[in-house]
Amino acid sequence: VVVRDLRGCFLLPGFVDTHVHYPQTAVTDAYGGGQLMEWLEHCIFPAEAELADPGYAEAIAAAFVARRVACGTTAAMVFGSAFPVAQRALYEAHEAAGLRVVSGRGIQTVGPDSAAPLITTEAEALALVREEIDTWHDPAGLRQVAIVPRFSLSVTRQTLAALGELYAEVADGGVYVHSHLNENNRAGDGEIATVKAMYEVDSYLDTYDGRFLPGSRVGGAGLLGRRTIMAHAVHCTDAELDRMAATGTSIAHCPTSQLFLGSGTMPWRRTVAAGVNVALGTDVGAGDEWLLSRVANDCYKVHLSAPGDDAVAVHPAELLFAATLAGARALDQEDRFGNLDAGKEADFLVIDPAAYAPLALTLEQASTPDQQLFALLMGLREPAIREVYVAGRRVGPGQAASEA
Ligand SMILES: [Zn+2]
Repeated sequence: VVVRDLRGCFLLPGFVDTHVHYPQTAVTDAYGGGQLMEWLEHCIFPAEAELADPGYAEAIAAAFVARRVACGTTAAMVFGSAFPVAQRALYEAHEAAGLRVVSGRGIQTVGPDSAAPLITTEAEALALVREEIDTWHDPAGLRQVAIVPRFSLSVTRQTLAALGELYAEVADGGVYVHSHLNENNRAGDGEIATVKAMYEVDSYLDTYDGRFLPGSRVGGAGLLGRRTIMAHAVHCTDAELDRMAATGTSIAHCPTSQLFLGSGTMPWRRTVAAGVNVALGTDVGAGDEWLLSRVANDCYKVHLSAPGDDAVAVHPAELLFAATLAGARALDQEDRFGNLDAGKEADFLVIDPAAYAPLALTLEQASTPDQQLFALLMGLREPAIREVYVAGRRVGPGQAASEA
């Protein structure tokens, strides 16, 4: 083997982004004049409708992959486009780049007028998910498929029942589930209040747990499990956290996005103490940062700023864990990647502080390993990500495709 001397550099496990929206690649920093519901209606639904154009979808897929490579995001749960032609562009771009991807088309069977181009009948939605699984799901490879209802307000009881049946059928094949949970708690017309009013349920999570009938009665099979990731989970009840922990469901924690949309702060101590796996997500485009260490940076700040006893200085090792191994665990592929253990498939980054002077400067001042890791995570910017490897193969940035 060739031995390379990378003294002065750091090796980090590749970042794992557990929640990122491919069809929102071009609309980070979109001003929607309000919180989640306004932003979706004014900015996001119209922007996502543009991916019906195959040429535009290809351009967005290329840009999405380029951002992932530049930021060292070696694996990701990617919230997909409504359009199969755009999903094809996404999978092909990832295959060409050599990145890991789990994705699924965003399912919407109801919604406001601005979402009309993204909405299909229930029968069509079911057929398209089956087709996506048959065409693209490769359990042992770098590419897998998820069942992705946008959120409970984009589907109906009938759709959730049908998706539960489908999931029961395909779960053994390693298919995933991905959606949003408890993001916006504005009284009256916010997301959580509207879900509870529309479904007449005790808790939001019940709608994904087969308990979508009035009074949270069981109406079908649930969607929770070891390959299910719920994004946000900012405003969960203790019962919801316990249920996620018991089923092995993971949370994609997206503090950067929650700042952008005024969604509040997930209680870190209570959520972690409940035993739920918490991994980081950028939530691009509500999150305006692609680099997962920047999300870890916001994670540190929002939890230290939490009121009263909730305030906590998250340890740098926990931040690194949330950005890497917790993500691999959320994807149920901890045996393949997530850290630098022997026997894993070698997803890692070469960080060169000399390529970004402010980072080099702060690292020089760090005297303990904890301080050094903290400075590295807080101060990392794209220029210092020198090399990115997936399964031992260099994928970039710049000239790619050599064996490690
Ligand atoms: Zn999201």
